[in-house]
Amino acid sequence: MKSSADLRELLNRIDHKGYPAYKDTRGSWQFEGYVLSIDHVQGDPFAAPSKVSVHVPGKLAGFPAELYDLKHKRIALQDYLIRQFSRQVQAFTFKAKGSGKSGLISVSHCGQEILERTACEIDKNGSLSTRMEIGFPANGRTINARELCKILFEFLPGCVKKSLYYRSLDEKSVHKNKELSEDQEFIRNELCRLNLAAFVANGAILPRESGVSDRPLKHAVPFTSPKSMELTLNLPNHGTITGMAVPKGITLIVGGGYHGKSTLLKALELGVYNHIANDGREFVITDSSAVKIRAEDGRSIRNVDISMFISNLPNQKDTVHFFTEDASGSTSQAANVVEAIEAGSNLLLIDEDTSATNFMIRDELMQRVVNRDSEPITPFIDRVQELYSAYGISTILVAGSSGSYFHKADFIIQMDHYLPKDITEFAKKEAHAFPLPANSAVPASKPSVLRPVNPDEAFRKNDRIKIKIQGKDSIVINRDPIDLRSVEQLTDSEQLASLGQLVKYAQLHLFDGTRTLGEICRELGNLLDEKGISFVCNGSYAAGGFALPRTQEIYACLNRYRGLKL
Ligand code: ADP
Ligand code: MG
Repeated sequence: MKSSADLRELLNRIDHKGYPAYKDTRGSWQFEGYVLSIDHVQGDPFAAPSKVSVHVPGKLAGFPAELYDLKHKRIALQDYLIRQFSRQVQAFTFKAKGSGKSGLISVSHCGQEILERTACEIDKNGSLSTRMEIGFPANGRTINARELCKILFEFLPGCVKKSLYYRSLDEKSVHKNKELSEDQEFIRNELCRLNLAAFVANGAILPRESGVSDRPLKHAVPFTSPKSMELTLNLPNHGTITGMAVPKGITLIVGGGYHGKSTLLKALELGVYNHIANDGREFVITDSSAVKIRAEDGRSIRNVDISMFISNLPNQKDTVHFFTEDASGSTSQAANVVEAIEAGSNLLLIDEDTSATNFMIRDELMQRVVNRDSEPITPFIDRVQELYSAYGISTILVAGSSGSYFHKADFIIQMDHYLPKDITEFAKKEAHAFPLPANSAVPASKPSVLRPVNPDEAFRKNDRIKIKIQGKDSIVINRDPIDLRSVEQLTDSEQLASLGQLVKYAQLHLFDGTRTLGEICRELGNLLDEKGISFVCNGSYAAGGFALPRTQEIYACLNRYRGLKL
C-alpha cells in the first residue's frame, strides 16, 4: 500500500493544477495507526464533497470484544464513536480555505435516536471504518493542495487519535454507553416475554423542548405510572426500575386537551428506537414493530385490499384491489392499517388528532339515520378487537373526544396534568349506561397481499438514476417523488437516503413481475442483515450519510412510490 508520504508528494505535485488532477488521490494510503481511503473525488469545488474514510485495524483500535460482540452493543458503540469523532471534526470544518465547499469536513449529525449508520462500522474483529465528506480545497478551479495537506496531515490525524482508539476515550463513559444498550435490549426482550406492548419508566421525560428541538423539555413533569399498571424490572446494569407496563390488547389514552396525551403517544412511536443517555426516553421502550397510523389525504394507494374497512363504494370501485392517486382521509388511513399488517406490525399507534373521524367511529344517531347498507365504511372501532383476536395486533389509541372506545378497550388511561391515571374500572362502569349499538360488521377475511411488482424497463435502460433527498419529507427518484411526511417514525434524513438507494436496488434487481411487494421488502431486509448497512451503497464505494430504516418504513416507502408498476 502507498504511504502517507506518497500522498504528500502527490499533493505537492498537483498543487496549482486544474481540479480534475485531484482524481489521482483516489485510493488507500497508510497513515500511522490507520488507513486513509479516498473513495470518491468531487468533480469541482462546488459539487458534492469528496468521500473519505478512515480504517483502524481492530488490534490498534483496541476495543474490548464485550463492547461490540452483540448487535445492540455494536450499534451503540458505533453511535458513540460517530458522536465523538463528529465533535472533534467540528472544530476544523472550513478551517482550510478556498472556494465553494473547500475545507468542509462533515460527519453524520446524530439526533436523539441511536441508529445504525454507514458513518461508522465495526466488524467482528473490532476493526472500524469511519466515513466522512471533505471539500477538497481549490481557488476557483485551481487545486490548493497545501490546504488539503492541512486537513489530511494535521486536522484529521488528531481527530482520529482522540476519538477512534479505545485508549484515548473515557473508559467509564464508553462502558456506560454499552451498559445502557444492554438495559434497553433487556427491556425489549422483557416486552416479548411478558406480553407487553410498551414500557414507560417512572421518571422519564417525554415532552421535547420545542417543535424544532428534540432535546428534553426542561422542568417537565416526570412520568409516573399508575400503581395498578406498575411493573418493576431488574435491569442488568441499572438495577431495578419501575414504570408503566402497557399490556398487549387495546389501550385507550384519554384526558382533557393539553394534558399530555399526544406527547405520550409520540414517545411510544419513537420507543421503537433506543435513545441516548440523558434524553429522558432511555427507558421508554415500545414493541419494535409498532406503526403509527394516521390519515394521509392525497397519498397514492396501489392495489391494496382495504375491504375490511371500506366496501360497496357508490361508483362500484373495487376495494379489494384499491387504487387511487389521491386518497381521502378514511381510505388513506384504511390503507395505512392494512399495509402495517402486511409489514408485520404487532402494534398500531393512533392519535385522534391526526385521524379521519369517519374512519374511527360512527355514532349511534348517525347509524340510525344513515343505515349500514348505505355506509361503505366499517369504522376502526368495529375492527379493533378483531385485529387483536385474529392477528394479535394490539392498538394504543389517543381519544379525548369520543367515549365509544371505552367499550372496546382493555385498559383506559387518563392523562391528568401530564400524569397517567388508570381509570379502566370507572370508565367501563360509566360506559354501561351508554351501550354501543350492536356491531353489525361481519368478521373480515385477511387482507389479500399478493402484489407482484413489474419491472420498469425504462428505469433499467436509463443508467443515470437520480436520487434526491429532501430532509425527512421526501425522496425523488428520477422524476417520481415519494412523499414521506406522514411516515412519522422516520426520524433521520439519512434513513431516507437509504430508502432511496433501496428503491433503486429493488428497481434494478427485484421488480421482476413475480416477486410480490412483501417478498421484495423481506429480501431487502435479508440483504441488509447479511451484508450490513453498507449494502445500501449499491455495490459502489461505501459512503457515510446513510442510516438504517426499519422494515416497516421500507414497506411504507414502497407503498407510496408512484413509480411502482403493479
Ligand atoms: P394533548 O394531546 O393531551 O392535547 P399534548 O401532549 O399535545 O396534549 O401536550 C400539550 C403540551 O404540554 C405540549 O406543549 C407539551 O410539550 C406539554 N407537555 C406534555 N407533557 C408534559 C410534561 N410531562 N411536562 C410538562 N409539559 C408537558
Ligand atoms: Mg393531542
